[in-house]
Amino acid sequence: MDVRSALEAENIRFVRVLWCDNANVIRAKAFHLDFLVEHQTQGIGISVAQQAIPVMYDAVAAGSGLGPVGEAWLVPDWATLNPLPYAPGHARVLGDMVKDGQPWSLCPRSCLKRMLAQAAAENLQIKAAFENEFYLLRLTETGLQPADETVFASTLGMDLNWAVINDITDALLQQGIPVERYYPESGPGQHEIAIRYSEALQAADRQIAFRETVRGVALRHQLRASFLPKLFADKAGNGCHLHLSLWRNGENLLPTAAGDLSPLARSFVAGILHHLPALMAVTTPSPNSYRRLQPHFWSGAFRCWGIDNREAALRVPTNPQPPSPTHIELKTIDASANPYLALSAVIAAGLDGIRHQLDPGDPVAIDPGNLPDSERQQRRIDRLPVNLGEAIEHLKQDAVLLTAFQPELAQAFLAVRQAEWTAMQGMTLDAEVQLLLERY
Ligand code: GLU
Ligand code: MG
Repeated sequence: MDVRSALEAENIRFVRVLWCDNANVIRAKAFHLDFLVEHQTQGIGISVAQQAIPVMYDAVAAGSGLGPVGEAWLVPDWATLNPLPYAPGHARVLGDMVKDGQPWSLCPRSCLKRMLAQAAAENLQIKAAFENEFYLLRLTETGLQPADETVFASTLGMDLNWAVINDITDALLQQGIPVERYYPESGPGQHEIAIRYSEALQAADRQIAFRETVRGVALRHQLRASFLPKLFADKAGNGCHLHLSLWRNGENLLPTAAGDLSPLARSFVAGILHHLPALMAVTTPSPNSYRRLQPHFWSGAFRCWGIDNREAALRVPTNPQPPSPTHIELKTIDASANPYLALSAVIAAGLDGIRHQLDPGDPVAIDPGNLPDSERQQRRIDRLPVNLGEAIEHLKQDAVLLTAFQPELAQAFLAVRQAEWTAMQGMTLDAEVQLLLERY
């Protein structure tokens, strides 16, 4: 079916062309179906300044290299078209940013395509899934409150929320996103829905669709959904762990016949750990992210890897039957990360590890948060950056990641991070939550 017939069949009025900016705010401009012809291939214009906007307000970040002059074009990738089950009459398509007829150097989606092409040049394919946790909140007289008070995997949590969870699931399935598992998470009103892994670009696209869908369906149930990394100081944070596997000619390169992690995958892990303090400016990019990264909260606060270790930044989950292990999981990441940029940076770090044949050392088999500082030092398990300012400084020094982003994107991305850090570094959690709750 062609695009017009597909849209007419669903009675679509508006097609939203989406982009995800350097602050990981998902935005769209929509055109009416009557004007499909002029938008179908040329797309919709946006100011280049859109890639310089921090999360707080719509104003250009200082030092971004971008300003009010200049236009980029959001060109629909029609392969990503979906009618929106939660917004009848609207459809979504993801846009690629094009400038002067070429992929724009600041386009996050194009950045990921570039990284995947680099991996492909080494005959590596990457598959991925983002594993989202989110809170459902209800508007009460005292403001937004958790929609329930249940604990991890509580069947009461399931019974209280089945209607909204079923609708979210149906909406995801209607968009071709397979739902694998569901359970109430540890925080009050917190839930986790795991979706199937896929080729990396599709995984990033699905992450956009996932956030949009959860929020859109929740609204129809008079609920608000938030993926903000930390809403309540003493309750579980929202992680968005990234699951990754490396493939060659249809074969998963992670397991050995003996059931260990292959040398190639070990080097990939080592590359990620090596770059992790800098990587965090991309994977945990909000000042709020660092409130989540606390020892004993299973959020990846320590720079180490471990087999089935939920306190390690990088967990290697094992399977009871071969093949095992089939993937690795980065925990030091949350949904305030732009999925295209996060995947690009993680892949750049991992490939660097492969190229230099880095070794990650022995896996850590204890909770590093229980070790005295001296022993952690001896085992070379670092506490990761404790605020965004530190991560920004690491990223500024990281030639591998900056090269992966290329100069213009790196400059605008760092300027946006810096603007957010400057604006929010002294904020209370309450003020931060009020500002960010519905951005993510
Ligand atoms: N909520 C934890 C986090 O902040 C993750 C819990 C889990 O392992 O699923 O990452
Ligand atoms: Mg979880």
